[in-house]
Amino acid sequence: MRATKAVIHLENLRHNILEIKKIVSPGVRLCVPVKADGYGHGAGKVAVAAIRAGASFLAVASIQEGIDLRNAGIVAPILSLSLPTPEEIPGIIANSITPLVFDSEFISDLGIAAKKMNRVIPVHLKIDTGMGRIGCFPEESVKIAKLVSNESHLFLEGVCTHLAVSDSLDKDDIEFTRLQIKRFEDSVKNIREAGINPGIVHCSASGGVLQYPEAHFDMVRPGILIYGYSPSKELNAKINLKPVMELVTKVVSIRKVPAGTSISYGRKWIAGEDTFIGTLPVGYADGLLRKLSPGLCVLIKGKKYPVVGRICMDQCMINLGNSGEVQRWDDAVIFGPDPMGNSAENLAELLDTIPYEVTCGINKRVPRIYTGTEDLNPPDYV
Ligand SMILES: *Cc1c(COP(=O)(O)O)cnc(C)c1O
Repeated sequence: MRATKAVIHLENLRHNILEIKKIVSPGVRLCVPVKADGYGHGAGKVAVAAIRAGASFLAVASIQEGIDLRNAGIVAPILSLSLPTPEEIPGIIANSITPLVFDSEFISDLGIAAKKMNRVIPVHLKIDTGMGRIGCFPEESVKIAKLVSNESHLFLEGVCTHLAVSDSLDKDDIEFTRLQIKRFEDSVKNIREAGINPGIVHCSASGGVLQYPEAHFDMVRPGILIYGYSPSKELNAKINLKPVMELVTKVVSIRKVPAGTSISYGRKWIAGEDTFIGTLPVGYADGLLRKLSPGLCVLIKGKKYPVVGRICMDQCMINLGNSGEVQRWDDAVIFGPDPMGNSAENLAELLDTIPYEVTCGINKRVPRIYTGTEDLNPPDYV
């Protein structure tokens, strides 16, 4: 196997889910987002581990992601969070994927197709309370809920919304989130008063889970928390999380170079003294972006060594100093759960982005190796 791999610590995923369960009330269901291949961790394995740890729903971003889970043997409910096209309707029905709905045209198309296939399809009504992405306006919510309940082959299983700034402690953001929650509660109340059962009411992603207990309702949808990171640094202290992904590689070459030697493309780094230079078989095509050098250090046998010179497509170099402590084939950890080394959050800081983008950005060619689980073949009850 290639030296560069992403070790996925499912024991940490389980730990994170149990920490989340301590925050939400016992009756609140857990929907685990496994979109974007489980934020880069591998959707199938994460799905099974999440269900074993107590999740009752999975969420994906496209019908195809849902179909892939079905083909992997997952039978748990799968909610699709992004909008499907009309061509995807047969796939939704055949694979029992639960779509979000909010417009009359799609509800009618789905209803007709479900009738033809003689199936009753659960749907969740999406209300846009301020995210500005998808959903009906709060004032239309009763009308749309009625459209769903008038369809003989559709079943209103849930009502949901999404919060735009729930991960921020800024005063205006808190005020806006409260407004979104209020609009959502009012819509749900109006749906109930119209004689329609809204089913599972849900609105909180990771930020809402940590900051707005009043917005947990019947189900929460924390993604990044499951994978071991807080949705923002401001909320770090609110929960004890363990990163799930560990990006490791090996030092494949060590050579002593004399002072004055330039390293990598562009000759941006010159050795100031005689030093050992190690080469790692990992580069920007793996997701280790060029912007990380200078700045990034890797962890080898408990010590940090800086990446020097430009990161190439498939390789990068590190300055090992002149002690000769590091040996060829030693493991080099780029990020992961070890507090001595970097987390994806440290890399995100260097890149001026969020940890989500770091784990999602680890390329497909990096093999995922799973630990912390005895047997991840989907059991019958999944
Ligand atoms: C991605 C997503 C989530 C999860 O968000 P996190 O910030 O990772 O917790 C929840 N709900 C919706 C609608 C999403 O798109």
